Amino acid sequence: MIRTDVLVVGAGAAGAALGFMLKRAGKETLLLEMQDARKKSKLCAGALEGRAEKAFFAVFGATVDEAGLAPARLEAVRARFGGYELSKVLSRWTPGGQVTPPPEPRSIVASIRSLFRSGGRKVARLALRHAMGLHPEEGYTVRCLPRKRLDDYILGRYLSAGGELLDHSTVRAIDEERCVARCVNLVTKETFDVQYQKLVGADGAASIVRSLLDGRRQRSTLALEARVPLSGEEAVIRLTKGANGYCWYIPRGEDATVGCYYHDLTDNADVICRERLSAFSSEVGTSLSSNLRGALIPTNGDVLLRAGKNAFLVGDAAGLIDVLTGGGIHYALISAKALADDLVGGEPYETAMRSQVDFVKKNAAHGEFFFSVARSFVQKIGKPIVR
Ligand SMILES: Cc1cc2nc3c(=O)[nH]c(=O)nc-3n(C[C@H](O)[C@H](O)[C@H](O)COP(=O)(O)OP(=O)(O)OC[C@H]3O[C@@H](n4cnc5c(N)ncnc54)[C@H](O)[C@@H]3O)c2cc1C
Repeated sequence: MIRTDVLVVGAGAAGAALGFMLKRAGKETLLLEMQDARKKSKLCAGALEGRAEKAFFAVFGATVDEAGLAPARLEAVRARFGGYELSKVLSRWTPGGQVTPPPEPRSIVASIRSLFRSGGRKVARLALRHAMGLHPEEGYTVRCLPRKRLDDYILGRYLSAGGELLDHSTVRAIDEERCVARCVNLVTKETFDVQYQKLVGADGAASIVRSLLDGRRQRSTLALEARVPLSGEEAVIRLTKGANGYCWYIPRGEDATVGCYYHDLTDNADVICRERLSAFSSEVGTSLSSNLRGALIPTNGDVLLRAGKNAFLVGDAAGLIDVLTGGGIHYALISAKALADDLVGGEPYETAMRSQVDFVKKNAAHGEFFFSVARSFVQKIGKPIVR
């Protein structure tokens, strides 16, 4: 029997960040990871909003730049639907600092129409930025980096704080009364028991801890993504007909990713996703490479922070992800911080997370409405795409 203060299942961003903070506070922590934690590479576009950078600072006491992660700034985003696009959704934009071209002479009717359109574009851009979780005081910044660089840093901090890690291991059964988890090494098939004081599921969208304790898996959708060479400096988001979600091209300094993310899961979702992504890749001037992979993203705002008296969930396992954008790095870090504070005697986890949970649920509840408004914004007030 192994004994530990906190057993954390999943050595992703949430699990390793939590382990690091608990170790630093003097708690014995054991991290179980079903893959090889140092070699695994999480499928992720690697976009960090300003709030994710703030969460990173709250956890590590250093900025992402001080930590040497050097994310590239996303200078511009274009949102597309059909043959139209809304450019400058993000574009070196600072409040009050937009450069406007001198007005061209035109008829009164054309001027009034144009006034409505440009006002509408401003409102549309602001609405899109808000829905993306971007804030004016952070200058609406989004920076991007290869995700492995971030995960390696977080895991490295946990290990250098003396944290223990068991690779290729997972949990098979949980005895909540005795606080014992029956675990298994997936390579040797050897089983072992871990007695814990607290158990944390940080094992992502298909959390086994959540399904063992809550009796059901949370609803998730498929996302496909591939790493591709840079083919442009501006990000492109293509909203799709008849399905909530989008395809993306995200440049991140040395490389880029293309991917797609749809909420409507049908039996052949992978085939549909692949076809759409293939067409989109040609549109942005790249072709799908052989490293196309799939992963799950929680989709319905079904947030669960506590899964029993001594059991908690963080990050994707808790359903903490922004349903509109698929962004979850911020939530992984901020939930790890809030739970670590609680476990060392600070503010209760649920209280600290209240506003975050509200934001996630609100976006999930209004997802369908948001996507349909975004699609009509782009089509009605966007400009024809020039190739
Ligand atoms: C294609 C894609 C693109 C994305 N792009 C972005 C983006 O640009 N920006 C952003 O903010 N977010 C993005 N996200 C979301 C973001 O990656 C997640 O929200 C974030 O990684 C959640 O961190 P986590 O630690 O909770 O989960 P994960 O990073 O998924 O970590 C979970 C860990 O648990 C391990 N594990 C799983 N099951 C078990 C088990 N049974 N036993 C033991 N270990 C287990 C996994 O191997 C993994 O190491 C994207 C997600 C996808 C799928």
